[in-house]
Amino acid sequence: MGRLLTVDENGLYCKQGDFYIDPWKPVKTALISHGHSDHMRWGMQHYICHHHTLPILKLRLGTENSSQGVAYGEVFEINGVKISFHPAGHIIGSAQIRLEFQDEVWLFTGDYKIAKDGVSTPYELVKCDHFITESTFGLPIYHFPPPELIYQDINSWWRQNADEGYNTVLLAYSLGKSQNILAHIDPSIGEVYLHGAVANTNNALAEIGYHFPGKYISPDIDRSALRSALIVAPPSASDTPWLRKLKPYRIAMCSGWMQLRGARRRKGVDRGFALSDHCDWDQLNQAIRQTGAKHVYVTHGYESIFSKWVTNHFGIPASILKTVYNDEEEESEL
Ligand SMILES: [Zn+2]
Ligand SMILES: [Zn+2]
Repeated sequence: MGRLLTVDENGLYCKQGDFYIDPWKPVKTALISHGHSDHMRWGMQHYICHHHTLPILKLRLGTENSSQGVAYGEVFEINGVKISFHPAGHIIGSAQIRLEFQDEVWLFTGDYKIAKDGVSTPYELVKCDHFITESTFGLPIYHFPPPELIYQDINSWWRQNADEGYNTVLLAYSLGKSQNILAHIDPSIGEVYLHGAVANTNNALAEIGYHFPGKYISPDIDRSALRSALIVAPPSASDTPWLRKLKPYRIAMCSGWMQLRGARRRKGVDRGFALSDHCDWDQLNQAIRQTGAKHVYVTHGYESIFSKWVTNHFGIPASILKTVYNDEEEESEL
């Protein structure tokens, strides 16, 4: 028997079950790890994802699709392959996908983090034989502070800006980071406003019971009248006329890349908060150690460095799995 999962021109393929995981070209059956655009693409005949990814699917890809939601831990079969979704701790609805066939277990992490963000269902350790891991921050220099500390920093920075009469603009990806921040801000400091991309995402998540503070900045709101407010917007809003109307403001980027020296300056922001929805170096190593995997496959990020490290340090054969996941939306390198 060949490998249960291989990569072909359409994506990560399971021949035995004739389905794909997070495919990048249109296919018949797609298991989707989470709602970010490099993992959930347009054009699949049938989508299978966690329940909480369904409203995101509807928002981003339209209502035309045939889709099916599953719960964490629920086991179903496709042509003898047992499939289950397990919390990945990355964003709301994000899942690691476990496949079992003839006593062999494969696990695809999708994007994941072990650190708890206080919003998404925390990461679950899943034992496996074959472990496919992302490596977005797979270098020893990446060590993220606990999210609670960053939320505290954000609140004190906002308080300081508000006292000085400035608005505070936080650039954060509309799905994931925005909700994590909104769930942890101190509403006693001032008013909270949202860019349309964030407001739309929050509205979709409200359908499944997630509620976050903040008011959509509709075109009829006089932006130049806002003072001491907190405004959450996606990174694409930087350098736009939309943003300039919010003056006077101080602006920060919220991203794991902000840990790098010079990243803040290159992005032209006043502050950088190293808030990430991915594993840092220690978390990646912890996952490798604890899954008990006999084979490791490394995808998007520092594949070559991290796979060599796993082979040399853990003595586990590790290879690179070439995919096209690039986190363009969520964690693009600066
Ligand atoms: Zn992601
Ligand atoms: Zn990704």
